[in-house]
Amino acid sequence: MWRALFDKIYVEKKALDDPGTKEILDRAGETDPIVIEHYKDVFDIKSSDGNARNSLILARNPGRRLYEGAPVCQSFGNEHFYYSPSVMNCIYDCEYCFLKGMYPGRDICVFTDLEETFSELDELEKEHPAYVCASYNTDLMALEDLTGYVGKWCERAAGHENLSVEIRSKCSRTDIYARLPVSERAIFAFTLSPDEIISRFEKGTPMLEGRMRALNAAMNAGFPVRICFDPMIYVRNWKDYYRNMADIVANGTDLSAVKDISIGTFRISDQYLKNMRKKMPCSEIAQYPYVSEGGYYQYPDVVRLAMEDFMKSEILDRCPRAGIYDWR
Ligand code: SF4
Repeated sequence: MWRALFDKIYVEKKALDDPGTKEILDRAGETDPIVIEHYKDVFDIKSSDGNARNSLILARNPGRRLYEGAPVCQSFGNEHFYYSPSVMNCIYDCEYCFLKGMYPGRDICVFTDLEETFSELDELEKEHPAYVCASYNTDLMALEDLTGYVGKWCERAAGHENLSVEIRSKCSRTDIYARLPVSERAIFAFTLSPDEIISRFEKGTPMLEGRMRALNAAMNAGFPVRICFDPMIYVRNWKDYYRNMADIVANGTDLSAVKDISIGTFRISDQYLKNMRKKMPCSEIAQYPYVSEGGYYQYPDVVRLAMEDFMKSEILDRCPRAGIYDWR
């Protein structure tokens, strides 16, 4: 399956002998990858014919492995909040995804030296508890059969008391949770959207029902589960869509057993939105007249607050004990 998904598979010369590289090449069924000097020789280059290229690149991470979270990211009350870009880019294709403003194309680059990230964490964990979003620049669960990184992060969290990990996903697979080492410090976060929004703006992702099945599988296996109604997208009839979704979610799972629920409307850094507007001149999402505040674009307050308050009250009406995380 994986080999068919990618046009070409590249490996950095210095990563060729890494055990992580070999594992991924095996899983991808690739015996003769194209060897390159540096991942940026491919990843940072726009395809010459203007079509989106779809390559897999295996490389070593030459830069930072842990970044402190940006202000628009929800830290969920964790003082030492990081994200780890072990994979850059995603097999899904959400129209609003900030990765479209961050990276030049659709190539997926996997850093095969995850152990180096864990070594950096060894030092951090000696100083203070660390909370790491491991699925930040990708959907790590959607790539799990290729990388095995979700399993590695879960193992790490289970064995390290000073580490909590969030794996955020739209993936609908249900088979994996019972096989992962369960820990209260490995949080599975599911981004839920109305089917109307999924069909229009979250290309290639599972529909709401599939995501709900996965959420219940994670919860049944004993993992803490987070629900993210985030980003909410402003469209005509948004209230009908999000109200209907609240019904489906409240009927489909026990909201009082969910660890927490986050609610947020679309927001994005100035620079990423500028890049997206150039790339996607006809995109309803990229071309919306957002307001800029503190380096980020967001909906005008009248829209943003109306949507977030609406969603909050729809959930609390159905489950007064639901733990909504208030990050404002
Ligand atoms: S699933 Fe997440 S990372 Fe992947 S394209 Fe959608 S928003 Fe981006």
